Amino acid sequence: MELHRLTAHQLSDLIAQKKTSPKEIAQDLLKRIKKTEKKVKAFCFLDEKDVLRQCAELEKRTSHGALFGIPVVIKDNICVQGQDTTCSSRILKGFKPPYDATCVRRLKQEGAIIFAKGNMDEFAFGSSCETSCYGPTHNPWDLKRIPGGSSGGSAASVAADETILALGSDTGGSIRQPASLCGVVGFKPTYGRVSRYGLIAFASSLDQIGPLAKDVQDAAILLNVISGHDGQDSTCADVKVPDYTKALVNNVNGLRIGYPKEYFAKGLNTEVKDSVETALGLLRKLGAQVKEISLPHTGYAVADYYIIATAEASSNLARFDGVQYGHRASDFDNLLDMYAKTRGEGFGEEAKRRIILGTYALSSGYYDAYYLRALKARRLIKEDFDRAFKDCDCIVTPTSPTAAFKIGERIDNPLAMYLSDIYTISVNLAGLPAISVPCGFNEKGLPIGLQFIARAFEEEVLLRGAYTFEQNTDYHLKKPEL
Ligand code: GLN
Repeated sequence: MELHRLTAHQLSDLIAQKKTSPKEIAQDLLKRIKKTEKKVKAFCFLDEKDVLRQCAELEKRTSHGALFGIPVVIKDNICVQGQDTTCSSRILKGFKPPYDATCVRRLKQEGAIIFAKGNMDEFAFGSSCETSCYGPTHNPWDLKRIPGGSSGGSAASVAADETILALGSDTGGSIRQPASLCGVVGFKPTYGRVSRYGLIAFASSLDQIGPLAKDVQDAAILLNVISGHDGQDSTCADVKVPDYTKALVNNVNGLRIGYPKEYFAKGLNTEVKDSVETALGLLRKLGAQVKEISLPHTGYAVADYYIIATAEASSNLARFDGVQYGHRASDFDNLLDMYAKTRGEGFGEEAKRRIILGTYALSSGYYDAYYLRALKARRLIKEDFDRAFKDCDCIVTPTSPTAAFKIGERIDNPLAMYLSDIYTISVNLAGLPAISVPCGFNEKGLPIGLQFIARAFEEEVLLRGAYTFEQNTDYHLKKPEL
C-alpha cells in the first residue's frame, strides 16, 4: 500500500484496525523520500535512525495519542530538543536546543513522529524559500518554481507526500502562501491560540505556529493538539479550546461571507481571480450569503507590516552575537569586532536588510515618524475587520495574487517579493485566524489557494467554510507528478 499518499485520519484508522504500524508508515515515507527529495529539497535535516528509534519507542506505548504514529515535519525555526534547529541560517549552524517547543512537546505526548526539519527562508524572511542558507526548496508541481515561503519546506513536503503533516509559522503569510502555491491546506491560528514557546522569534507580535496538511480534517486534528494555554508564553491566551473536529460540517447554509473589494483590484492575476470568483459562486450555491464588503485601509498593510515586522526582527535578532548560539567568527581583534564579524558572516542579505531597516525605524530620531505611525495604522487595519465582522461571519479572498513564480524571478527585487503577501499580511496585523485551501489550477497546472478569515478565536467558522468547500470540490485530491 502507498501509505505516503494517505492523510493522518486515514492512517489513524488503519493503525486502530492494526492494518499498519508507525514503523511501516515511517519506512514507506523514507522510501518515498529517496525517490523525490533530491528534486524537491524540502528538508534541511532528516535523521533516519532517530525516526526509527521514535517508532520503536512508540511500539512500547500502552496508550495511543491523537497523532499516534503520524510523521510531522517541523519548520526549522521551531525548537526540537537535541536536534539541529537553525532557522536555515548560517548564524545558527550547529545549534541544538536544550528543550522542546511547547507544540513539539505536545506532538510527542500525542504519539507523533518528529520526522524532519523543514527548509525555510532564513529566519522566516521571505516568500519563496530562496533565502535559506541550504539553497531553495522546489515546488513539487513544477521544480523550476518556488514553493512559496517562508514555510516552503513544510508545504512542499506535504504536497510531495514526503510527510503526512507539517508545522509552519506565519508572521505575514508564511503558512498560507506556501500552502496556496503547493496546493495544500495551511492554517494560521488566532494570535495567542498556539504557544510560541520554542519558536525562534521573528516578529513577536505577529508570529504564530500552525498546521500544513493534505485536507481540512487533518488540519483540525493537528490544531487540536497544538492549541491552548501555556504558562511559558505570556501572550498565549487562556481561552478554552474546543474540539475542532466537531466544526467539520458540510454545511454553509446561512453563513455570511464578505469579499473585500480592495482584494480584487489591480495586481490580482486573472486566473487567480477567476478561480476565487468561481469558488465564491459555489459557496453561494451551497447556501452561503455572499456580499461585497470594504476594508478601506488595505492599501497600507504591506508598508505597515514592513515597519513593524522589521522593527521587531531587528530587536529579536540582536541575541545572535556569537556569544551564546551557533556561529562565531574565528578571526577578530576585540569584542566589538567579534560581534561585527560574526553577524557579517552569519546573516544573509535579506536578514541584514531587515535588521538595518528595523533599527532605522526604531532609532530615536525616526521612531515617531515610522514605528509609532505604523502602530496607529495597524489599529486602523484591525478596526476595518471589526467593522466588517459586524455583518459577516467570515471573509473570503485569494491567498496569493499569483500562482508559484520561477526560482530567481523576484529574488533581486525585494519590493516585488514583499507584494507576494499582500492578501495575507493584514490578518497578522489584526491577530485573526485564517486558512488557505486549494481552489483550482491555472493553465500551467499550478495550484491556486482560497483564503477564509474569521474573528479572533473563531477558528471553527473557518473550518466549517473550508471543509464545506473541500467536500464539494476535488482540488485537494490532485497530486503532482514526481
Ligand atoms: N513574506 C513575509 C515576510 O517576508 C512573511 C513571512 C512570514 O510570514 N514569516 O516577512
